[in-house]
Amino acid sequence: SILDRIKEVEPKVDSYITITEEEALNRAKEIDEKIKAGEEVSVLAGIPMAVKDNICTDGVKTTCASKMLENFVPPYDATVVKKLNAAGAIMVGKTNMDEFAMGSSTENSYLKKTKNPWDLNKVPGGSSGGSAAAVAAGQAFYALGSDTGGSVKQPAALTGLVGLRPTYGRISRYGLIAFGSSLDQVGIFTKDVTDCAIVLRELAGKDKMDGTSAEVEVADYEKHLDKDMSNIKIGIPKEYFVEGIDADVKKAVLDGVEKLKELGATVKEVSLPHTDSAIATYYVLAPSEASSNLARFDGIRYGYRAEGYDSLEGLYTKTRTEGFGDEVKRRIMIGTYALSAGYYDAYYKKALKVRTLIKKDFVDAFEDVDVIIAPTAPNVAFNIGEKTSDPMAMYMEDACTIPSCLAGVPGMSIPCGFKDGLPIGMQIIGNYFDEATMLKVAHAFE
Ligand code: GLN
Repeated sequence: SILDRIKEVEPKVDSYITITEEEALNRAKEIDEKIKAGEEVSVLAGIPMAVKDNICTDGVKTTCASKMLENFVPPYDATVVKKLNAAGAIMVGKTNMDEFAMGSSTENSYLKKTKNPWDLNKVPGGSSGGSAAAVAAGQAFYALGSDTGGSVKQPAALTGLVGLRPTYGRISRYGLIAFGSSLDQVGIFTKDVTDCAIVLRELAGKDKMDGTSAEVEVADYEKHLDKDMSNIKIGIPKEYFVEGIDADVKKAVLDGVEKLKELGATVKEVSLPHTDSAIATYYVLAPSEASSNLARFDGIRYGYRAEGYDSLEGLYTKTRTEGFGDEVKRRIMIGTYALSAGYYDAYYKKALKVRTLIKKDFVDAFEDVDVIIAPTAPNVAFNIGEKTSDPMAMYMEDACTIPSCLAGVPGMSIPCGFKDGLPIGMQIIGNYFDEATMLKVAHAFE
């Protein structure tokens, strides 16, 4: 039925870059036989899901929505894919995204434009817009995305889904094609919080293939999903309810907080004083890391290679000129500049210091509260084409999601209302490795 649904809506929504119909049907048969033979299987066995196209899948194209990797077929599975395969999940396809996960609308894809299933003239958010659209349009029951500065939370908000970004280190990054390694995390899109808890449990945990994955116990998240809010302290950061955030969005989020109060939670104002510096900090650090990570796409080792070069340097230059899109080039240039000898101290090193201050904001706030609640995005989904010629307007889409990503704390978005028929997202930010409390608070709305 999922494959039928894909056939029906994919021509309108364009969620997928690759659809793995044959493989999916074969897998389904395999799992069906296992179940019939009485084998014990995971609760995820047989459930169709989708994977963002920057997560490596053995034998299945993984393009990063870039000309550079348009025909790249990885020889191995990312750890998250391996884990889901072992649980009997059925991957139905690889989803569209902003090229190399750089963007907030999925319009930076080299391959296609994904539409928001709620209104086909609107963007689904980004960079994991294909994964969000696929779940919102019923083309998969859940999907994996990646989140560097908001790429799971923001598209979840714009498409009315639950989207979770874990604590940095909670889920292995092995096989996730690197953008900003100190920020990148695999995230999850689902239709409800229970599904999200189940998938997180399957993915979380230390992986010997990723040195930054953390040795911290994984809870049975589903068991924490009760409605008792009497021990929960909620922080409302005053810096997130300022000018620039739409009035209806503010109201929907604060109405949600009222509901938690009715369920017994206590609410207090908190301050995250360095919020204002987060975008500037992110747009020094993420491009710096990207400029280094993307150096590997040189036309030699894998991916696209230009024709008609006359020297080794010419090969590099021509390949990268032809293989990368504008936003990727913009980031590589910013990052290379910020890391260069004369500017390193003024930009990169300074940004690292500010990042520490932003992190301290969260550490201090979590002394007093269990979760922090704020809008996910400044507004609902915007028109396709509306912000493509203005990178700064696009960067501002992540004003509410970037600070917690820099801090490394977990965050999620859940639907909390509508404006003009489009979903509004509420952001719930948790303390380090306390996804359980964050999920519990999110679940109170179901
Ligand atoms: N929109 C932000 C950017 O363009 C975040 C992207 C992401 O989280 N991958 O960098």
